[in-house]
Amino acid sequence: MLLGCIADDFTGATDLANTLVRNGMRTIQLLGVPDADTPPVDADAIVVALKSRTTAAADAVAQSLAALKWLQARGARQILFKYCSTFDSTDQGNIGPVADALCDALGTQFSIACPAFPENKRTIYKGYLFVGDVLLSESSMRNHPLTPMTDASLVRVLQRQTKHKVGLVELASVRQGAAAVRARMHALQQDSCRYAILDATEDAHLMTLGEALADTPLITGGSGIALGLPENFRRAGLLARNDRADALAPVGGLAAVIAGSCSVATLGQIEHMQRTCPSFKLDPMALARSAQPLTDAIEFARSKLDAGPVLIYASAQPEEVRKAQEALGKERASEVIESAQGKIAQELIAAGVRKLVVAGGETAGAVVGALKVKALQIGPQIDPGVPWTLSMGEPKVALALKSGNFGAEDFFAKALASIK
Ligand code: ADP
Repeated sequence: MLLGCIADDFTGATDLANTLVRNGMRTIQLLGVPDADTPPVDADAIVVALKSRTTAAADAVAQSLAALKWLQARGARQILFKYCSTFDSTDQGNIGPVADALCDALGTQFSIACPAFPENKRTIYKGYLFVGDVLLSESSMRNHPLTPMTDASLVRVLQRQTKHKVGLVELASVRQGAAAVRARMHALQQDSCRYAILDATEDAHLMTLGEALADTPLITGGSGIALGLPENFRRAGLLARNDRADALAPVGGLAAVIAGSCSVATLGQIEHMQRTCPSFKLDPMALARSAQPLTDAIEFARSKLDAGPVLIYASAQPEEVRKAQEALGKERASEVIESAQGKIAQELIAAGVRKLVVAGGETAGAVVGALKVKALQIGPQIDPGVPWTLSMGEPKVALALKSGNFGAEDFFAKALASIK
C-alpha cells in the first residue's frame, strides 16, 4: 500500500476512493476501523471510512489513531486525512484535534489543510473558502444543523481548533509551481507554523500542490487534494501506469434497486425507473404496525427478479414524509424503513441478486450494515462521485451506493447497464 487514507464519513470516503481510482490507483474502502473480520486487502490506496465528523473530538481522535495504526502496520507511505470540502467542523473539532493527534503519532511537525474541490465549486483564495460564488459563511452551510460554518477564513477556523500556529500559502506561490510552494511551506515552518492552509482555485493548482506534498507525511483536505498524489508515486517509480485501476471482476446474478432517499434527484430517478421496471413501495406506517409489508415486499421481489431488475423504495414526497414523521417520530420512521430495507437486501442476495443499487446515504449505511460488508473494492464511475464497488468477502456483490442528491435522472438504468 502506498497511500493510507482516513475519512471522517462514509460517502466522503467513497468520493476520495473514486478520485484515486480515476487517477490510476487501485483502491479499497474499509467500513470502520478494521478488525479481525476485515478481509485481507491488496491495493495501492486504502481508505478507512469512519463516522467521526460530528462525534465528540476525543472519540474522533481515538478512531482516527486506531485507523492510522492499522494503515501504518500495512506500510502506508503517506497518510491523507479526508474531510468535507466545506470544512465541516466546529470550534471543538474535529479537524484540528484529529490532525494534531495524527501529526503527533506520525512524529511530524508540519501538515497542510486544503479542502478545495474546484470541480464541485469549492475554491480557496487568500485562505477564504468559497462555495460557488459566495463565501462559505454566506452559503447554506451557515445553517447546517450540526456544523454551521459562519467564518470563511480557514486560517481562523482551523486556528480555533488547535493550539499550534496556522499559516497560509497564497495562490501567488501556487501559481509559481511546486518549488515555490515548498519554499513557502518551509518558511512557514521556520515561523513555527504547524499547519498551512493552501490556496487553490482550479485543478491545475491541486496538481501543483500534490507535487509539492510528495514528501509530506500527513496531508489533510477534501478529495481534491488527492488529485496530484498518484503522480508522485509514479514519478518515484512506486506505481505503474494503470488504465484499469477501476476494473472489477464480473459478478453475474440478478439486479435490484433499493431507495430510501427522499431527495429531488432520487424521486426523479424512481419515476424514471418505474417506466420500465416493476416496483414496490414501502409504507413506514404499515411497516410499524406489522411485518406483513416486509413479507409482501420480499415475495414481490422474488416473483419478479428473474425477469429483470426490481425497485423497492420508501422514498416519498415531503408531505408524505412529514405525515409519517409526525405519526411515528422522525427517528422511528427512519428506523422502521432502514431496518426493513436491510432485511430486504439480505433476502435479495439470498435470491441471487449480485448487482444492487442503493439510493440514500443513511439507507446505504443500513444496507451495507445488514450485509455485513467490511470492505469495498472501488470500480468505475457511474456518475460524478458515484462509482460501482465490489464487496469483498462472500458472496461478492456489486454495490452502487449513491447519496441522495447525486446522479442524473437515468442513474439506475445507467448503473445497471454498466456492470457485468
Ligand atoms: P439522503 O442521502 O437523501 O439524505 P438518506 O437515506 O441518508 O438519504 O436519508 C433518508 C431518510 O429518510 C432515511 O432514514 C429513510 O429511511 C427515510 N425515509 C425514506 N422514506 C421515508 C418516508 N416515506 N417517510 C419517512 N422517512 C422516510
